Amino acid sequence: MKTIVKRLPDLDEFPISSSGPPAVLAREIEQAAADLEHARAEEVLAWAVERFGDDLLVATSFQDCVLIDLAVKVKPSIRFIFLDTGYHFPETLAFLDDVSKHYDLNIDILAPDVPLDVWPCGSQRCCEFRKVQPLNRALAGVSAWITGLKRIDTPERANAPVVNWDTKGLVKVNPLATWTDEDIESYVVEHDLLRHPLNAQGYVSIGCAPTTRPIGVGEHPRDGRWPDSAKTECGLHL
Ligand code: SF4
Repeated sequence: MKTIVKRLPDLDEFPISSSGPPAVLAREIEQAAADLEHARAEEVLAWAVERFGDDLLVATSFQDCVLIDLAVKVKPSIRFIFLDTGYHFPETLAFLDDVSKHYDLNIDILAPDVPLDVWPCGSQRCCEFRKVQPLNRALAGVSAWITGLKRIDTPERANAPVVNWDTKGLVKVNPLATWTDEDIESYVVEHDLLRHPLNAQGYVSIGCAPTTRPIGVGEHPRDGRWPDSAKTECGLHL
């Protein structure tokens, strides 16, 4: 079934204030979220590309390349960003290199704000300097961003809309919001995608090396993230 989404007014007509979007735009985004709730990820991406053109970027963690594969099929030149925290596994950086070459990606790799020995892993401001601030700088130049966030990732993400206004004052598009981990695996197999080299060792949700471990049978993929703390988010999606 074809999803019909009403076209939104130009963002320039309605500058976004820190108190949130004007009511008319809030309603339009709410409507888009409702219209796209049951749409295929490709349709969500196509809507985002049509609506925002180059005023858009895709943030990807390179734990897999499902969102990348979907996005380049909609728009081969779509812009990606990757947050190089300095703490990634060498295998993640190798995967980034392989995937970037395979798809000839238009990608910016964002360096951290501080060296490794300043606010290192485990310290209070590590994620802030290595993820949140570089991301916010990249997002300052666009009106919308696309993420690989899924509702099944964490309880905090369980109600994530397919499209919404986020706390950064941008339109956030989550084409995989309704996907399960099984959907991801099926897509990887069906489309014969490149795999992160650590998948074979039990790593599924893959972030920085010091705070990621492989999971065992019956564990949730996110059990492998920040396994020694109560932390569930690094701040990118708050
Ligand atoms: S996940 Fe860990 S190593 Fe990576 S930026 Fe956050 S605190 Fe630092």
